[in-house]
Amino acid sequence: MLGQLGGGAKLLAGGQSLIPLLKLRFANPEHLVDLNFIVGTSFIKEDSSSLHFGSMTRHAEIEHSDLARKIPVLHDCAAGIADVQVRNRGTIGGSIAEADPSGDWANALITLETTVHCLGANGARKVALKDFVLDAYTTALAHDELVTEVEVKIPPKGSGGAYVAFKRSAPVYPTASAAVQLAMEGDVCKDAAIALGCVGLTAIRASEAEAALRGHSVNDNAIGAAAEAARAAADPHPDMRGSADYKRELVGALVKRAIQIALRRAGGEQVKGVHFYA
Ligand SMILES: Cc1cc2nc3c(=O)[nH]c(=O)nc-3n(C[C@H](O)[C@H](O)[C@H](O)COP(=O)(O)OP(=O)(O)OC[C@H]3O[C@@H](n4cnc5c(N)ncnc54)[C@H](O)[C@@H]3O)c2cc1C
Repeated sequence: MLGQLGGGAKLLAGGQSLIPLLKLRFANPEHLVDLNFIVGTSFIKEDSSSLHFGSMTRHAEIEHSDLARKIPVLHDCAAGIADVQVRNRGTIGGSIAEADPSGDWANALITLETTVHCLGANGARKVALKDFVLDAYTTALAHDELVTEVEVKIPPKGSGGAYVAFKRSAPVYPTASAAVQLAMEGDVCKDAAIALGCVGLTAIRASEAEAALRGHSVNDNAIGAAAEAARAAADPHPDMRGSADYKRELVGALVKRAIQIALRRAGGEQVKGVHFYA
């Protein structure tokens, strides 16, 4: 249908980004192609190495999924998105396709090995998430393509992750967020992925912060160095949620908290995810 209807057509998934834009007259498509009636587009499955999420899987379904809890970053993220109403309607596929700089999913998923399955008139293809989100509200999707599935590789044993966001209240986007994924061998960090949300046009992988942990014991000094490097990597814009300096300080503090939780989880502790509300 997208191919037949051309550039004037838009997909409708959970409607939690698109409907507000329609109400404000910021989007004015000639046609809406509703995905809600397509059978088999909402699922959570596991194979030997990955978890697979159908594009129409709602945030709430991921929040309540035992399979998704195998990768705690996913549960943290799903459970912290807005409020129950938004989580019951909004979908993981719609969120990735929207590429909102304040959206939670892309920031959490970029710390994991995530592949986006796409389908269009020319067939199916798989795109690594890092190559899928190109800019704010811009993805690698062609007009006649859609997201069918999000595939997330299960991290190796000894891994732990956390996604932490700071919000003014539940039904709003975060002021800043941090996602951390660690692979530990004893107290030495074998690998680290750290991403910063809402402090740039897309999620920022803080490579110097990751380097401050990789190959080192994750003690207070290393955590402090990683948080400082994350603060420096942030590129926030001032808005009604806070000044650029405020967001930079905030993201450093969130990275610190996320590393501490990720570390405990890597050691096998059950730690409840936390979002902070002003
Ligand atoms: C009050 C409120 C608060 C919110 N707070 C947060 C928050 O804190 N964090 C957060 O991450 N999000 C938040 N959201 C957004 C919410 O998570 C949305 O669910 C999400 O951004 C978009 O998913 P959707 O399924 O609703 O997509 P839709 O709104 O239906 O679509 C969004 C865009 O993606 C396209 N699209 C949808 N599905 C596909 C697909 N399968 N393939 C290709 N393109 C597709 C649509 O054409 C449209 O352009 C909030 C929304 C509201 C209304």
